Amino acid sequence: MSIEKQIKELREKLNHYNHLYYVENAPTVSDYEFDCMLRQLQELEQQHPEFADPNSPTARVGSDLSNAFKSVDHTFPMLSLQNTYSLDELHEWVEKITKEVGEVEFVCELKFDGTAISLTYEDGRLLRAVTRGDGSRGDDVTENVRTIRSIPLMLNGNDFPSYFEIRGEIFMPYASFERLNAEREQNEEPPFANPRNAAAGTLKQQQSKIVAQRGLDCTLYQIAGKDLQLTSHYESLEAAKRWGFKISDKIKVCRNTAEIDDFINYWDTERKALPFPTDGIVIKVNRFADRKALGSTAKAPKWAVAYKFKAEQALTRLLKVSYQVGRTGAITPVANLEPVLLAGTTVKRATLHNADQIMALDLREGDMVYVEKGGEIIPKITGVELSQRNEESKPLQYITHCPECGAELVRYEGEAKHYCPNQSHCRPQILGRIIHFIRRKAMNIEGLGEETIELLFKNSLINNIADLYDLRAEQLATLPRLGEKSARNIMQSLQLSLEVPFHRVLFALGIRFIGETTAKYIATHFKDMDSVMGASKEELIEAEEVGDKIADSIIDYMHDEQNLIIIERLRRAGLKFKIEEKAQASSSLAGLNFVISGSFSLHSRDELKALIEAHGGKNLAAVSANTSYLLAGDKIGPSKLQKATKLGIKIISEEEFLKMIETDDSDYTPTPAEQLPPKEENAPAAEPINKNETVTQGSLF
Ligand code: NAD
Repeated sequence: MSIEKQIKELREKLNHYNHLYYVENAPTVSDYEFDCMLRQLQELEQQHPEFADPNSPTARVGSDLSNAFKSVDHTFPMLSLQNTYSLDELHEWVEKITKEVGEVEFVCELKFDGTAISLTYEDGRLLRAVTRGDGSRGDDVTENVRTIRSIPLMLNGNDFPSYFEIRGEIFMPYASFERLNAEREQNEEPPFANPRNAAAGTLKQQQSKIVAQRGLDCTLYQIAGKDLQLTSHYESLEAAKRWGFKISDKIKVCRNTAEIDDFINYWDTERKALPFPTDGIVIKVNRFADRKALGSTAKAPKWAVAYKFKAEQALTRLLKVSYQVGRTGAITPVANLEPVLLAGTTVKRATLHNADQIMALDLREGDMVYVEKGGEIIPKITGVELSQRNEESKPLQYITHCPECGAELVRYEGEAKHYCPNQSHCRPQILGRIIHFIRRKAMNIEGLGEETIELLFKNSLINNIADLYDLRAEQLATLPRLGEKSARNIMQSLQLSLEVPFHRVLFALGIRFIGETTAKYIATHFKDMDSVMGASKEELIEAEEVGDKIADSIIDYMHDEQNLIIIERLRRAGLKFKIEEKAQASSSLAGLNFVISGSFSLHSRDELKALIEAHGGKNLAAVSANTSYLLAGDKIGPSKLQKATKLGIKIISEEEFLKMIETDDSDYTPTPAEQLPPKEENAPAAEPINKNETVTQGSLF
């Protein structure tokens, strides 16, 4: 292949991987593989400058820009970091820097594995939060960032600059990541590959309420601003800590390679015990005057480098691919491996996600495969050692029929997974649906676990969720491992489940793609089961979070005769089939008519409608002379806005609306933004924190 073609192919591949990593948050190759490929391209470009291109992935910061957010220019470019996986290269870098600026101080820090964020503060208040984007422009994610508790909305003290930017990493601690993925798996949504992707994906959620639930965290590591009176990185981080920012305490000033190596070696082991993900150590020049002398390239500053830890990898044999059937019939292929020790645990199985992934890896049974722990948690296969492949091996044929019931599998349009369509007679689907139904977040039927469900199924006592409500204590008490006491407990839990609110009943049905949150939106919008059952696709799509895919799934479910019978039996059993109308919270909005338009950050539109009604107000569909207020969110319909202005109707924001109502509603929690004291009382005087030998900080990143 010609050099030009090689360069072109590498650029195309890397651009594709960048997109998967930064925009889709679903990488298909390991960072190490990506970095090796990037390095290969870099070398080819250096040897053949005639093929240089300013748009090459070697010259640009990988971009996370998306259309869903307003993009904002960065005052100072937000660059990447040079990186290396080799201590020798790191030592060469230290030597080069020392040669250029003389005796130099370094600061070693953990490299948090999340997504970069730039926060701007004005007079001590959080003004804006912007992602790195393409380095010069980023996405404005302020509303989402406001929900992260470790990010101060107001600063402490009075010695911070009146206007400055601080940069850091938003990351997802392991505990939040595991919780989120467990939930996604139970809802049969694809799990996030690692905590980095989960953090980046969460930050780009349209609903800040969802962001608030996912337990993101943030550590800050860099101040930027014009005319900042600071002289060194370490000093600036100490100041930031005083102002209330979360600054890592795992930081050390080092003066030579031996000290840097000690820091790296210590954390290479100790980081495994940290509750959050890290992927290396960042080594930065400490004094700003030295940084200024060293400067930056278009992609990264010359005064910092990331030493990256290689994800732990093991080579083992792929014995067999087996297939699991989920409660919605989704098929998940699983790699069964020759047991191998990886990052402290023995790995026997790895997830393969779907048929496309098996194809992309060209996996064959008997292959020697590389297994990695993505984000140190979920083992996955990252590649095949082709040199050890048996010449007679054959490409893996994905199954065409359900391994449990033999039904022919189907693949829905736009879906990566195959499904077994035999909902009523496929054992794992039947059991899966009942197990989903009794879960804590669904009907919360205590005393019934997976084993008991299997036992009841085996004894032909249950075959679907409605059968649970026909159970009798005498039947249960005679079963092995269950006695009278357990039988009584189960009957009591079933009775208690009749009080479970409608949105959880809807979630408990286990309709494909309907997770807990979506069920809540649908319940709030339609108010009762009959309305959901009778809704057309167009009507379903009007509810928040419901798109084509979910609407089709509800319609399919509600048109299945078996499901209709089950729903009727559940109705007769006494489950809640409509939302509880809340007692009137107040009559503060009595006589007032509201029109809601646009998208909101603190509440969904349906929640706002419910709040209006709960406080005695009325919701109108269109703006007219009868309208008292237009409650306007982001991206409000221009015609509504125009009409309201013409009719002289008062236009209010979500915050203004919330102030109008009493907040004694038990479901209503003030957001951090609302907890802020009034601006005048807290605006501190801007004071430089250090008046000695200052350097203007204009281009830190
Ligand atoms: P990077 O993640 O290697 O390093 C730069 C980033 O480190 C900064 O933007 C910042 O967000 C972060 N960081 C964490 N802790 C820090 C600290 N203490 N100080 C300063 N910065 C800190 O670079 P990148 O440009 O974000 O991403 C490029 C890397 O992403 C590649 O080297 C590759 O490993 C990975 N990548 C992987 C794929 C893939 O498909 N696997 C695709 C694209 C990129």
